[in-house]
Amino acid sequence: MTTLVDPFGRQINYLRLSVTDRCNLRCTYCMAEEMEFLPKSSVLSLEEMQRIASAFVNLGVTKIRLTGGEPLIRQGIVELSSSISALDGLKELTLTTNAVLLEKFAQPLANAGVKRVNISIDSLKPDRFKKLTRLGELDQVLSGIEAARNADFQAVKLNAVILSGQNDDEVIDLANFAIERDLDISYIEEMPLGNISSHKREDTQHQSLDIRKTLAEHLELTASAETTGGPSRYFRVTGSNTKIGFISPLSDNFCSSCNRVRLTTEGRLLLCLGNEHSVDLRAPLRDGVDDAELQDIIVQAIGIKPERHYFDPEDTQILRFMSATGG
Ligand code: SAM
Ligand code: SF4
Repeated sequence: MTTLVDPFGRQINYLRLSVTDRCNLRCTYCMAEEMEFLPKSSVLSLEEMQRIASAFVNLGVTKIRLTGGEPLIRQGIVELSSSISALDGLKELTLTTNAVLLEKFAQPLANAGVKRVNISIDSLKPDRFKKLTRLGELDQVLSGIEAARNADFQAVKLNAVILSGQNDDEVIDLANFAIERDLDISYIEEMPLGNISSHKREDTQHQSLDIRKTLAEHLELTASAETTGGPSRYFRVTGSNTKIGFISPLSDNFCSSCNRVRLTTEGRLLLCLGNEHSVDLRAPLRDGVDDAELQDIIVQAIGIKPERHYFDPEDTQILRFMSATGG
């Protein structure tokens, strides 16, 4: 079987599939206040997404994450999950969500073969949560988290982007929230993707090491070699079932072990989060390529995967927002 190996010898076995660029929230670090979304005709249909997913699995991809935008607002997300999870050779279908609609979707998604869910929650204070997300009601997210815990997922993990001066005082509260519920949690450094209006990214940068120091004042952390196939570096919390992860794209570059590519909602295969190298898959699909030709285009695309990103919070060079990227 042909597999996907990039020019730097990295095996690509993980696809993040953005099912919509739209969202029911407007997190300040992710989106500008006024956003232009893609017209419907530009967006891949569910059948087109399924076809691309199938091509990747035939090329040795074993893990697919559905993301966005907010994946739960895409009509047909449960059906898409079912058809992708049934692909022969796929080991794991996962999903990242803001959990606003998860109360309704948790068990149907688990039934459809989604194995693990990541839930974003950056604050446990209702007013602050609303400010950070511009639209969010914390209660809905908390209900979504409960529904996920009660559904038949193999794991539920929380993700929190920590911004200096905005929610860095909640690092411990968020960890305790996870520990009390036997959940894992990852802290994410803010990435300079897209020009945002709410704050200057250089003012809110908060490094993983500082988060770890804060946590270590209250919790006993032991480094762990565990991985979920993503960029998180994990620590076990003594006396709990919780793992704490750190995703540190700025302070601890993990590009050398990158195993992933992203497909945007409009069918652009992005070879790197922090570079614009991409190949359009939508045009050939709509021109009627067969499966072998589609796979060949994907194999060629992996040949232009850049070695690494050069994120600089003072200089946003990537104008594409995270929501349009498939974060
Ligand atoms: N809407 C879903 C959610 O929020 O979980 C899925 C898409 S969202 C783009 C995926 C993840 O990217 C979330 O955990 C979010 O916090 C994170 N994210 C968004 N913009 C980011 C940025 N500029 N830097 C770091 N993480 C970001
Ligand atoms: Fe929406 Fe997720 Fe971006 Fe927040 S982080 S605006 S929930 S896509």
